[in-house]
Amino acid sequence: MTNAPVSTLPVVPHWIGGVEHVGTDERTAPVYDPALGAVTKNVSLANAATIEAAVATAKAAYPAWRDLSLTRRQAILFKFRELLDSRKGELAEIITAEHGKVLSDALGEISRGQEVVEFATGLAHHLKGEYSEQVSTGIDVYSLRQPLGVVGIISPFNFPAMVPMWFFPIAIAAGNTVVLKPSEKDPSAALWLAELWKEAGLPDGVFTVLQGDKEAVDGLLTHPDVRAISFVGSTPIARYVYETGTAHGKRVQALGGAKNHMLVLPDADLDLVADSAINAGFGSAGERCMAISVVVAVEPVADSLIKKITERMSTLTIGDGRRSCDMGPLITEQHRDKVASYIDIAKADGATVVVDGRGIEVDGDAHGFWLGPTLLDRVPTSSKAYTEEIFGPVLAVVRVPSYEAGVELINAGAFGNGTAIFTNDGGAARRFQNEIEVGMIGINVPIPVPVATFSFGGWKDSLFGDTKAHGAEGVRFFTQQKAVTSRWLDPSHGGINLGFPQN
Ligand code: NAD
Repeated sequence: MTNAPVSTLPVVPHWIGGVEHVGTDERTAPVYDPALGAVTKNVSLANAATIEAAVATAKAAYPAWRDLSLTRRQAILFKFRELLDSRKGELAEIITAEHGKVLSDALGEISRGQEVVEFATGLAHHLKGEYSEQVSTGIDVYSLRQPLGVVGIISPFNFPAMVPMWFFPIAIAAGNTVVLKPSEKDPSAALWLAELWKEAGLPDGVFTVLQGDKEAVDGLLTHPDVRAISFVGSTPIARYVYETGTAHGKRVQALGGAKNHMLVLPDADLDLVADSAINAGFGSAGERCMAISVVVAVEPVADSLIKKITERMSTLTIGDGRRSCDMGPLITEQHRDKVASYIDIAKADGATVVVDGRGIEVDGDAHGFWLGPTLLDRVPTSSKAYTEEIFGPVLAVVRVPSYEAGVELINAGAFGNGTAIFTNDGGAARRFQNEIEVGMIGINVPIPVPVATFSFGGWKDSLFGDTKAHGAEGVRFFTQQKAVTSRWLDPSHGGINLGFPQN
């Protein structure tokens, strides 16, 4: 398939003030259908005037939204949840057409985002303060949780619906107004969500979509009217966002990249391990921050485990996500080529290429950005194929002599997003959860993404800032606490006293 002339393609706009906003932006970026390998539309890249319009609209909408009763905010959230649940198939098609992941996986990410919407509908409970009566004679103290104002969300390409939904349901429920800057690689899901909010009755300006790239990100990071930033993306950009945002006085949570290990003890059920390695290594073509990219096999299991994984790999179908395939393409040609280059890097460094995913047969257009599931064995831990985040369907096996050596290896890594242990030994699993320096742990669970009532986030280079996404930490991030000390005067408490108040 050849690309249509770029100038005749539709342009994905912003969403400002409850309507599509075309703006005066001078620049656009191409948006691909990765399964066709073709540009299907362009997306506006915000200039300074568009950034200003987005933030000013969100700022203007804030006072009325903040003051709306919890019951009325809750009714809008319930309506949004119902609309999302009944129409999620439309959103899944949009995601598959721009990201490439298979439709069932797109539906899965929407369902995980919907969980956070459901959590946020409990806002009346989440926003409750505390009250202590009679802390001193006639004096009561209570705390309030209040919104921040305009908050920015900057999201990556790999979960165009779920990652924004980790944040905006709670931010909005808490009374903030939101400016979402989605990835320019798959910008349409955010617009669909904006239209859904409008249909649910959200007042104009409470939810804004600002399309763009670095210029839009920098605009939000430095804007004096933006109070907080929730970022998800690669580690170098997460670090930059954290440093720049905090230097401009903002509250920032910046979730970064990952390199997730699965530790397999010799007593584990190897069929379960092989199934899990396949699902977690190759689902969404490995473009998940919780994908397993390294299997750490405690000897003597490696040979039999590799055999089981290889058998299962041969059954996987790769192709257009709209057909019933197991795995779709990668996001861009450039990213596909970068991922594939790690196969040669690993080989040159002494690894064995057990399965090479290059040149595989696909059920899709020849121009798609394809790379099949790849398995590398005996990957040296000094190789870039081990130390760097690959973010594609490349699974590495590293062999270690003992549980202790496995834990030491995982803890030496720069990232600390997720990890898993596979064993039938409860004592070993309990020791692992205690000793491992990683934020999210699976015990016989390969992708331990916590449910929405808990908080999502890694340690070390996988999270900058001290607050994770959703759950109680999400509520804290999008609110500020106020403590009120109150006394209703009674004449006996008069008199001058310059001493510091004591109980
Ligand atoms: P990315 O860092 O390239 O982009 C993320 C966002 O930052 C996008 O909105 C992009 O427009 C913006 N951006 C890109 N370059 C920028 C720059 N120089 N200055 C300012 N902003 C910039 O990440 P990506 O490729 O879209 O997503 C994949 C990465 O995200 C992987 O590293 C993956 O591990 C990570 N990720 C992490 C989590 C997590 O929870 N920790 C979840 C999903 C994805």
